[in-house]
Formats: sequence, C-alpha cells, structure tokens
Amino acid sequence: MKFNEILNQLSNYEPGKDIEVIAKEYNLKEVIKLASNENPLGTAPKVVQTLQTYANKAHLYPDDSMSELKTKLSAKFGIKDKELIIGAGSDQVIEFAVHSKLNANNAFLQCGVTFAMYEIYAKQCGAKCYKTTNLGHDLKEFKKLYEAHKDEIKIIFLCVPNNPLGECLNAKEVKEFIKIVDEDCMVVIDAAYNEFASFKDKQKHLEPKELIKEFSNVLYLGTFSKLYGLGGLRIGYGIANEAIIKAFYKLRAPFNVSILALKAACAALEDKEFVKQSLENNFKEMIKYEEFAQNQALNFIPSYTNFITFTFNEKNSTELSEKLLKKGIIIRNLKSYGLNAVRITIGTPYENSRFFEEFSQILKG
Ligand SMILES: *Cc1c(COP(=O)(O)O)cnc(C)c1O
Repeated sequence: MKFNEILNQLSNYEPGKDIEVIAKEYNLKEVIKLASNENPLGTAPKVVQTLQTYANKAHLYPDDSMSELKTKLSAKFGIKDKELIIGAGSDQVIEFAVHSKLNANNAFLQCGVTFAMYEIYAKQCGAKCYKTTNLGHDLKEFKKLYEAHKDEIKIIFLCVPNNPLGECLNAKEVKEFIKIVDEDCMVVIDAAYNEFASFKDKQKHLEPKELIKEFSNVLYLGTFSKLYGLGGLRIGYGIANEAIIKAFYKLRAPFNVSILALKAACAALEDKEFVKQSLENNFKEMIKYEEFAQNQALNFIPSYTNFITFTFNEKNSTELSEKLLKKGIIIRNLKSYGLNAVRITIGTPYENSRFFEEFSQILKG
C-alpha cells in the first residue's frame, strides 16, 4: 500500500519507556521512572477519591460541553468559557493549532531544540520548519528569522519554560516579542511547566488573561499531565481569543476527553496541598541534582521545570542511559534531539538518591 508522501518526512515521537515493560524485560523488582516529567508524588489524594466515585460511570459518554471543568478553569484564569478549549492532553490542542493554520505552502518557527510534537504535527501538514541556530529561545534570532520569512511563517512556538532544555524566558520578553508579530501569525505559548517556573521566579509567570487581551493571535497552552499529576488520563487546555477557539472547535471530535479525565482534572484543581507539596519537593530536590552535577564535574542547564538536563563532553548519553536502564532507572536520552545529553525528571527523595547512587557508579566505570 502507498501512503501519503508526507509520511516519508515524519519521524515518530520517542516516548519515555514504561515501568512495567522495563521490569519485565530486564527482570527487575524495582523500576524508577525519571523520564517523562510526571509528578513523582503520584496521583493527588482528591483525584484518587474522585476516580473511585466515578469508576462505575465508565459506560457513559462524558459531558461534551465540559462545563464543570470549564467553569473551574475560567474562574482560575479570569477568562470566559468561550476563550477555552479542552483537549486530550495539551498535545491535542497543539494539533488543533497546527491544523488550523499550517499547510504545504507556509511555515512555522521554533527554537533549535524544543518539544518534538510541534515539528511532528506541523510536518503532517507539509509546512516548512524554521529553527533558530541557538538551541534555546534567543528572541533576537527569532525576530530576525521571522522578519526574513514573514509571509511564510504562520505559527511561532515558544515553550516557556522549554522542554527538554529547562531554560525559561521572562514574561516581559515574551510580550515584547509578540508585539513584532503580525496578527495573522499565531504565537503558541506552551506553558506546560510554567507553574514550576513561576514558583521559582515570579518574572517567568505568564498570565493568559493578559496575553489574550493584549494579543488576538496568542494561544496559551496548559496541561494537567505535569504538576497536577494526570499524565495517564490525557487532559490539557488552550486559552485564546474566541475566534481562535471557534476555529479549533471545528477540528475537535466530540467526546475528545474522557469522563474520568474531566472529573479528575476538577479534583486536581481543588487539591491545593498536593500542588504545593509537589512544587516544594521539586525545587528542594533539584538542588541535590545541581550539587551532584558539580561534584561529578558534569554540565547542567539551570532549570525552571520539573526536570534537569545534563550535557556531556566525553561520555556518551546513549551508553549512560542504557547502563542506568539495566539498573532499573529510566531517564530520557536526548540523542533523538541531536544532543549528547540526558533529561532527568526530579523524583521523590528516595528515587533521586537511587539515581545518584547508580549514576555515580556508572560514571566511574
Ligand atoms: C508534557 C508536555 C506537553 C503536553 O503534554 P500532554 O500530556 O499532552 O498535556 C506539552 N508541551 C510540553 C513542552 C510538554 O513537555
């Protein structure tokens, strides 16, 4: 069978490996996963309760208006329901954005190394990719590239803070930059980790209400997969002006988010204690990673997220990650991003100490 030719240019997203699969493959009793930036504190107690309550509702389609969660999110952000769309992960909202703007005759712009799904979705539409030579977000270079290809570029992706590098623009810089972008070019601000960045440094805090009021072309993306601990349920959201949301609704399949995901997201927003603990654990434990890197003479990128990226000179990131895997610790090798580096999700104190133990042994050997 022949497939759409566009498929020849596509590569698959390489996801973090699964705990059960690795335990079976390597015959291990304990596997620690520090690979997908999930919440190491697990599922919030209020979410567990809610999932139990709704366990016997799995036969029902969800409320397609999603009004309960929309009301909660609108209140949280001070926006209108019409400025909000909920997706099966914010990934799905990225897909809506791309399909609403890109085609084989136009292009998108992103930094050198960022979330792989932007490029994957955009290439499905045949759009051309412009990347900055700088790996992270150098807005001077963004401006230069945008101005050189203004007629072509219809989406600009800003990942604030950036996955998989962990660096983060200031809110002020983001706003200054958007001013130079034409109204017809969508600026997607992926804020998957912005709660972490805001906790560490207020200057990184993005306020979607302000952004969409000032700019009709901004799409702000949030997710329940990271801080809120719902990665397994697939739920995220997009905030933008009504016209953008209306366009996205044309691309959305009915019942795109499950009933359990919707109920769990409502509960996750209520569990403020869990959120607070998660943020505190993250940055307390992050310090240990920075100290570890310094002690081992490894380079790391200062991080505003729930992960930290180590880069290597002589050592090989693939070899290191494979050795660690055999010891039952899954981290993310960044070779597929063209980097000799690894990304490690900040875990619980126990998980992190296990990582330090095994990784220091491997580095010696
Ligand atoms: C995890 C992540 C997302 C979205 O994840 P979903 O699980 O699809 O909500 C989006 N952008 C970045 C940068 C991420 O790391």
